[in-house]
Amino acid sequence: MTLTTRFAPSPTGPLHLGHAYSALLAHDLAKAAGGDFLLRIEDIDQSRARAHWEAQIYEDLAWLGIDWPQPVMRQSDRMAAYQAALDALWSRGLLYACTCNRRDIAAATSAPQEGAEPVYGPDGLIYPGTCRTAGHPKDAGALRLDMRKALETLGNTKLSFTENGQGPNAETGKITLSPDELIGTVGDVVLARRDMGTSYHLSVVLDDDAQGVTLVPRGADLFEATYIHVVLQALLGLPTPLYHHHRLIRDDSGKRLAKRDDARAIALYRENGATPDEIREIIGL
Ligand code: GLU
Ligand code: ZN
Repeated sequence: MTLTTRFAPSPTGPLHLGHAYSALLAHDLAKAAGGDFLLRIEDIDQSRARAHWEAQIYEDLAWLGIDWPQPVMRQSDRMAAYQAALDALWSRGLLYACTCNRRDIAAATSAPQEGAEPVYGPDGLIYPGTCRTAGHPKDAGALRLDMRKALETLGNTKLSFTENGQGPNAETGKITLSPDELIGTVGDVVLARRDMGTSYHLSVVLDDDAQGVTLVPRGADLFEATYIHVVLQALLGLPTPLYHHHRLIRDDSGKRLAKRDDARAIALYRENGATPDEIREIIGL
């Protein structure tokens, strides 16, 4: 089987050194194995995606010495595929509509009994389940996965994935997830935001499959999101690729780089006369 990796940036700001690390790693891993490196533009958040950021992504990657086949997959072209998966999960009774806002969720989770700390999952507070049995119509709000029910349809077995890199606590090798863990630390995640009609989690799983991706290199900050992705792959009958989570690139004060951290933008290094090899050196590749 050929190795297929990808880099999947969102065109919502400049690429910085952390993105350079992800992209070069994905590219190098594919080339070293005689495999394919693919690019995907993750633009489901149309309120933040901008054409000029997308253009700059292409420029930055080409400058770094990366090439990729055309056409580039774009999430905004894939809404029908996301909708079809949501319809299928809905008709299996695994989704419910949720009308809660952040404040409702915070209020419902603020410990009524002393000592009970609210639990945070990959997407923030674990949803307390307020709307699970409310019977809201499908278009009433966000669509959440009923995690307990979903795991029941999978026979309440353990799920797993292979970590070729490292999670935030040095997790590596075969990572096993028990149903209790998934219910307690992930819970009823949103699969379709009301304003988007999909979510990062659903789209990334469907797209990695549609592109035939066999190894997903990405930052260790997404390690726990992988738990959600593995559940979705099992529910949708899709293969689970290998994952390679990598260390995060930090600034001099140890803080991880964010999109708005324009000081570390690749474009700025380029303008200041840095070479692609110097970028590789700075990020330790
Ligand atoms: N689009 C995501 C980002 O810009 C990457 C998601 C992924 O690699 O799975 O952070
Ligand atoms: Zn709700």
